[in-house]
Amino acid sequence: MTPKYIFVPGGVVSALGKGVAAASIGCLLESRGYRVTLQKCDPYLNVDPGTMSPFQHGEVYVTEDGAETDLDLGHYERFTNATLTRDNNWTTGRIYESILTKERRGDYLGKTVQVIPHVTDEIKAAFRKVPEDAQVAIIEIGGTVGDIESLPFLEAIRQMRLELGPESTLFVHVTLVPFIPTAGELKTKPTQHSVKELLSLGIQPDLLLCRSDRRIARELKAKIALFCNVPESRVISAQDVASIYAVPAEFAKENLDLEILRLLKLEARPPDLQPWLDLIQRIYHPAGEARIGIVGKYVQLEDAYKSLREALLHGGLAHNHRTVLEWIEAEELDSVETAAKHLRHVDGVLVPGGFGKRGIQGMIYGIQYARENKVPYFGICLGMQCATIEYARNVAGMPLADSTEFDPQTPHRVIYKLRELLGVEEMGGTMRLGAWPCKLAPGSFAHRAYGKLDISERHRHRYEFNCDYEPALVRAGLKITGRSPDGHYVEIVEAPDHPWFLGCQFHPEFKSKPLAPHPLFAAFVGAAIERQKARSQAASERPQAAGPAPSSSLRI
Ligand code: GLN
Repeated sequence: MTPKYIFVPGGVVSALGKGVAAASIGCLLESRGYRVTLQKCDPYLNVDPGTMSPFQHGEVYVTEDGAETDLDLGHYERFTNATLTRDNNWTTGRIYESILTKERRGDYLGKTVQVIPHVTDEIKAAFRKVPEDAQVAIIEIGGTVGDIESLPFLEAIRQMRLELGPESTLFVHVTLVPFIPTAGELKTKPTQHSVKELLSLGIQPDLLLCRSDRRIARELKAKIALFCNVPESRVISAQDVASIYAVPAEFAKENLDLEILRLLKLEARPPDLQPWLDLIQRIYHPAGEARIGIVGKYVQLEDAYKSLREALLHGGLAHNHRTVLEWIEAEELDSVETAAKHLRHVDGVLVPGGFGKRGIQGMIYGIQYARENKVPYFGICLGMQCATIEYARNVAGMPLADSTEFDPQTPHRVIYKLRELLGVEEMGGTMRLGAWPCKLAPGSFAHRAYGKLDISERHRHRYEFNCDYEPALVRAGLKITGRSPDGHYVEIVEAPDHPWFLGCQFHPEFKSKPLAPHPLFAAFVGAAIERQKARSQAASERPQAAGPAPSSSLRI
């Protein structure tokens, strides 16, 4: 079955929230009973974002099948039920890689290989790689209309319209309508120009999603409609909202889904947006706040830990709480005392994933503080490795214990590259990626959180727990509570005599959704809320002179 295609290019500037817009369209169509899939096209020349710095690209999102992809795929999975794979993210680099392989193989039979038709054909073939049962494929075109890089993708979507016709293809252009303070008004000119740019490529947008910081009034919509040759009902006001999860409902108010269904000649089945409406209520009216301190690198960069931020928010929502995140640059913690100073007021501590030596010692101080002071701790990937190192150093009597990633000469390599020894590793594909099964220990924090013993989670790491040190660490009290079924890999460690202390080698944040918070995030934030309650109770029982209640309980 050929699906209906919705293409989502963007104009004027980048960072308009095209990913959230595409994901929200998917959410709305699902709410009306349609099966959707989403793809992201990235015009850059890297084959995938796996080797790009988080400063350049933000988070690398990992799919079930182990593809390292653009973070917009995270939005797609959080807003819809679509399961995404490497065929849901296409870069120019990947398209060219495939073309050049074919060219070297002689597949082009002596022809000159050109952007049109060969590159555009390859892109169209990518668009067609959608699941059998998908009824609507939403394809987001990265970059901004007018960029040289995105031209082949835009040419390919123009050809798709020609081939499949207007009832099977739709162009939803995301554009900006900025408010100019000195004029005191919203301006439509940038939108007009970006539509003109699209028209020069042979693409007349069917719908305009106009991003702005305020509502776009009727008269302004009429003006945009007239200048951009789009009926007024298809000029959609997409104003800023306090939570991205409110976007589908906002779009529904503007009848975006009805317009899409009408244009694609799909039946307008009644929508069921209730779970999303309930969710928004919970987001806007939380019963309290949980304050989580995140000790990591790249903390100043909003996008570097995108899925983690969302998963923590979901974890709070599982308890009707708002999760307040405090980002602590690991390099600033140079002793347990400074760690205590930075973390004293938080309800839980988290060390997220990361690569390289910078900041490791600070993370270890943060972990030591959390372990010794019984503050709920959640270590993810690097955070699990650091928790193991901290335990080896401070509890198991191996002060020089380390990961070979940070100190190749360490006498106690508690974290190392097992796969190198197993001969699994080759140059190029050096990471353990994607979904792997894991067995949990009965009665562990992990088991209690998941409520089952067999789980599967997504990975992205090179180094792992060294089982040679398992006896020594277990003797010192560390609990190994998750393992790969073949027994080779330790997946979860937990500390004893602690309200909640867990490190996992995988990345649970990739599977958390607002409507289905991940069990580990729900359990971690739950433990943080418990600690907060216990502390404010202790403070209220203490005589006045003992000082103010912890700041975490003040803003509820
Ligand atoms: N740097 C560590 C490794 O490669 C952790 C990776 C991560 O946190 N994603 O194993």
